[in-house]
Amino acid sequence: MQKQENLTKNQKIILDIIEKSSQPLKAYSILFNVQKKGINAPLQVYRALDKLVEIGKIHKIESRNAFIACKNSKCQIAKATVFSICEGCEHVTEIHDHKLSEHLKDFKDNKGMRYNKYNLEFFGLCKKCDKIKNNEN
Ligand SMILES: [Zn+2]
Ligand SMILES: [Zn+2]
Repeated sequence: MQKQENLTKNQKIILDIIEKSSQPLKAYSILFNVQKKGINAPLQVYRALDKLVEIGKIHKIESRNAFIACKNSKCQIAKATVFSICEGCEHVTEIHDHKLSEHLKDFKDNKGMRYNKYNLEFFGLCKKCDKIKNNEN
């Protein structure tokens, strides 16, 4: 699968901005950035964001209402995402844990309901922040 396959001009511009950011970007800061590149209509930006999420190029961090580029070229499952969020420095990483995804793939609750989508966010402290915290105590 080609990386930039079938993307519109707007989608490419927006994907590029998100990919270059080291942090998840909020919609308004994406808007701010694309305005410099000539896309002025917020609706166009939101549409492009929706599409990029749908095809798995970017993911939405719900708790932060922000977007992050998918760092895994094999990750085409936009409906199954797991993130680790540091509560100290707000660093976000995508978690690819085989055991976890195997377990969640066939997850059923005790009433037998099946799920076709999940978006997990784990909160904690990254190694760096954990170290700082330990030094403070
Ligand atoms: Zn991904
Ligand atoms: Zn941290």
